[in-house]
Amino acid sequence: MTKLQAASIAEFKAHFGGDVLLPDSTDYDDVRQIWNAMIDRRPALIARAGSPEDVVRAVKFARKHELIVSIRGGGHNIAGHAVCDGGLMIDLSLMKRVKVDPSARRAEVEPGCTLGDFDAAAQAHGLATPLGINSTTGVAGLTLGGGFGWLSRKYGMTVDNLLAVEMVMADGSQLRASASENEDLFWGVRGGGGNFGIVTNFEFKLHPVGPQVLCGLIVFPFDAAKSVLAQFARFTETMPDELNVWMVTRKAPPLPFLPADVHGKEIVALAVCYAGEPAEGETLIAPLRGFGKALGEHIGVQPYVAWQQAFDPLLTKGARNYWKSHNFALLSDDAIDTVVEYAAKLPSPQCEIFIGTIGGQTTRVAPGAMAYSCRDAKYVMNVHGRWESAAEDQRGIAWAREFFKKAEPYASSGAYINFLTQDETDRIAFAYGTAFTRLIDLKEKYDPTNFFRMNQNIKPQ
Ligand SMILES: Cc1cc2nc3c(=O)[nH]c(=O)nc-3n(C[C@H](O)[C@H](O)[C@H](O)COP(=O)(O)OP(=O)(O)OC[C@H]3O[C@@H](n4cnc5c(N)ncnc54)[C@H](O)[C@@H]3O)c2cc1C
Repeated sequence: MTKLQAASIAEFKAHFGGDVLLPDSTDYDDVRQIWNAMIDRRPALIARAGSPEDVVRAVKFARKHELIVSIRGGGHNIAGHAVCDGGLMIDLSLMKRVKVDPSARRAEVEPGCTLGDFDAAAQAHGLATPLGINSTTGVAGLTLGGGFGWLSRKYGMTVDNLLAVEMVMADGSQLRASASENEDLFWGVRGGGGNFGIVTNFEFKLHPVGPQVLCGLIVFPFDAAKSVLAQFARFTETMPDELNVWMVTRKAPPLPFLPADVHGKEIVALAVCYAGEPAEGETLIAPLRGFGKALGEHIGVQPYVAWQQAFDPLLTKGARNYWKSHNFALLSDDAIDTVVEYAAKLPSPQCEIFIGTIGGQTTRVAPGAMAYSCRDAKYVMNVHGRWESAAEDQRGIAWAREFFKKAEPYASSGAYINFLTQDETDRIAFAYGTAFTRLIDLKEKYDPTNFFRMNQNIKPQ
């Protein structure tokens, strides 16, 4: 570090309300390490913002010193965009306030909140908005890419429930975007990722949910996979919006409701959540039990917040993860055959193929209404490669890529930008789909120098 840099950093620290970490700071490694251990980058400094004003200071500092900037919300992005090499990482994870207005059914959420933080605050009033299925994921990154989870069939994508954002722009100015203020920017942030600025506050619509919901798992043997998947495809086509059923195929973790001799063997699990009266849900899910001879079942009424954490133990930080994903408008027999073929050769005990069901309300919004445009997608499939050591990378990545390629002919248009890995820059235009041209125009208007480029980047022309 030169003398000038040291002096500049000292001045920056003196005016910064939050913490500034340098490579020799105690917490530096802990904060720079994100969910996916495949990403190992070392920012020159980390600014842990405590307020929107801190974010402004950090943006201005990075501009002045021509530093590349990365933004960290929950740190879950698979491509690792939250952390940069040699630049400024703006870490928002200390900004964690959630303010719920139960009578207006609205929530203001700061960008460091995890899904767990938001769910807990909203569920204290029996309210929720659609979020993802792993409570440690960041609200910010998930929302800006689209966001979907158990409630999406009933209440839409997370972005369909976004009412307004407050932002710090590339020149350090602050503005608000909503349906009536900076409408074009509001269109863009609802699916355009972190391309336009740093969101310092999100405002969401809330809905009555639970707080007790009917949910859980039914697990079938892998030799019934083809038949279970075919029935899953038919069932999910016509199920009511309140019901959601996802499919996961993987090697069985040691779940207490499964016989011990099944642990470690390939299985097909249906994960179920009914966002209505549990008694009604019982009747609706009954046909799932007829899909085959189940190995075990764990379905019951439990707090929605507990169900939102059910998959956390399988999705802890620190493993090496490589993903590939497709959207599907329908699950054809050929697509199902391909899933079964590759699920039979999972390269590690932690790898899985999951098919998240959306549809319902997510498909009733016009494709041009906002930047998230994949309104024909009824399923989002993620090929989740996951293992512990770098020595396993080659085999696991090859499996994921081969399966992805083979399943491609059955996929629909667009892709979920939040599931793209760092080597998929050639898929960005395809992923944004019909919104891409308008997104380029917006980038040109709001970030013409591409100051915000650690993201699924939309390059200004
Ligand atoms: C285990 C796991 C489970 C998941 N499950 C789901 C799921 O069920 N449903 C779903 O929809 N997605 C899911 N995802 C994907 C998730 O939506 C993305 O990984 C998302 O990017 C995570 O957001 P984050 O804030 O944690 O990420 P970060 O890595 O912190 O941020 C990702 C990027 O978003 C942008 N960004 C973050 N915060 C801001 C901000 N305040 N302002 C501007 N830009 C910002 C930046 O470009 C940043 O690099 C899952 C991911 C994981 C790892």
